[in-house]
Amino acid sequence: MNVAAKLSTPLSVASLPTGLFIDGQWRAGTEGKNIDVIDPSNGDVIVSVADATVDDAMEAIASAHRAAKSWAATAPRKRSEILRRCFELMIENKDMLAELISLENGKTLNDAQGEVVYAAEFFRWFAEEAVRLNGEISTAPSGANKIIVQHQPIGVAVLVTPWNFPAAMATRKIAPALAAGCTCVLKPAAETPLTALVLANLYKQAGVPDGAVNVVITSQSGPVVRAMLNDPRVRKLSFTGSTEVGRTLLREAAATVVSCSMELGGNAPFIVFDDADLDAAVEGAMVAKMRNGGEACTAVNRFYVQSGIAEAFSARLVERMKLLKVGAGYDPKSQCGPLINRNAVERLSGLVNDARAKGAKVLVGGGPLDGKGYFFAPTVLSGVSPNSRISAEEIFGPIAAITTFDTEDDVIDLANATEYGLISYVYTRDLARGMRVSEQMDSGMVGLNRGLVSDPAAPFGGTKQSGLGREGAHHGILEFCETKYIAVTW
Ligand code: NAD
Repeated sequence: MNVAAKLSTPLSVASLPTGLFIDGQWRAGTEGKNIDVIDPSNGDVIVSVADATVDDAMEAIASAHRAAKSWAATAPRKRSEILRRCFELMIENKDMLAELISLENGKTLNDAQGEVVYAAEFFRWFAEEAVRLNGEISTAPSGANKIIVQHQPIGVAVLVTPWNFPAAMATRKIAPALAAGCTCVLKPAAETPLTALVLANLYKQAGVPDGAVNVVITSQSGPVVRAMLNDPRVRKLSFTGSTEVGRTLLREAAATVVSCSMELGGNAPFIVFDDADLDAAVEGAMVAKMRNGGEACTAVNRFYVQSGIAEAFSARLVERMKLLKVGAGYDPKSQCGPLINRNAVERLSGLVNDARAKGAKVLVGGGPLDGKGYFFAPTVLSGVSPNSRISAEEIFGPIAAITTFDTEDDVIDLANATEYGLISYVYTRDLARGMRVSEQMDSGMVGLNRGLVSDPAAPFGGTKQSGLGREGAHHGILEFCETKYIAVTW
């Protein structure tokens, strides 16, 4: 096992860290087992990483717990400067990190570079928030005392992240946790652990003290996360992943009443009214659908296009999807990378077949591409029935499913007819209508004439079964704080 990672650009696979990162040290799992990390563009093993047991995870919790007191007592300015240094180091290593993300996740270099900057920005943003965690003071209505309200670090946090944004989903949690004065154990997805490990080296280089951030990778996420949640030293779970796993973790967190932040699945509607700027709507559709090859919680799942513009919009979208060059993410010519694994390819084929059986027409693409990697053709379906599985389930791939609508009331009902509520997109030139419809979307976020909304300075999160809590903005740091009220008489 190579434990001494050397950061370099371009990426050097031989120098990647492959151990567990506990108490600032690299080590093997106690059982000595490993997990293969696969390149989804060809199915080859990139490298193997240590597979953590429950005992390893408990050591990581103990390490975070030991570091907690002194990190919480570290001056906010000092914490802020360390976070700022994390931001700078990520930007200095942008190309190497982007190559690594492309290699293990499959997304294009362009998307990976965008992710590195987005991920790094959480450190810059929360470096600024760390020194602005203001409380409140007021006089009790009776006049008998003062009411002082403080935000204190909640304690040791367990952070569980998915494979689709290996850098950003982790930094969106680590940066506010550290800013608030919490220490943490990150459990990244086993499909894409390398980015998290390389970043751990950067944090150390930036001055994050040993034990403040620990990283454990495991093939046994159920038992490992359950054991951590059952440990009374753990006070916070911040999870990003599927709604199904989120529900399980909420049940498990109930045993110790651990505070939970949940960023779960989405089923985003993208509404195009007849009066929309067609160029802007198609451009926004490509970003909202095809960023990350469709493997994003914010990716459009259901296109609702008003009947007057439906034909023109579909034709333009087909034209753009047809032109996309599909290939390995790290090939600079690629515009759409592979899916994460073989299961994803089979799942998407099932969704297309079901939609076709219920009347949808395939305008372009429609199935997997030949070859060793997990490639699926960029696909556009029209005439998709709201009763199709593809309308109800998260697609998580390069398929645009189009349904036509007639009236504003109809489309609001259609758009909200889902258990999810992460994000909605609305395109219209009529700002009054845009605001009216945006306000009626039952989702935590709306892109009005925009295909991209993610911003570390804005509160990211969903309603209904898309989650609990918000990440980013000022809200993000409060997720890692406990509110302390002190009644004072002086
Ligand atoms: P997933 O739910 O399968 O896995 C997420 C994480 O949970 C991984 O680290 C995984 O190892 C772990 N995990 C799986 N089963 C577990 C269990 N029983 N106990 C504890 N941990 C467990 O999701 P995924 O396939 O990695 O990611 C895709 C999903 O993530 C999509 O549903 C997507 O919408 C969602 N997502 C949401 C956001 C958001 O901000 N709302 C962002 C990105 C991805």
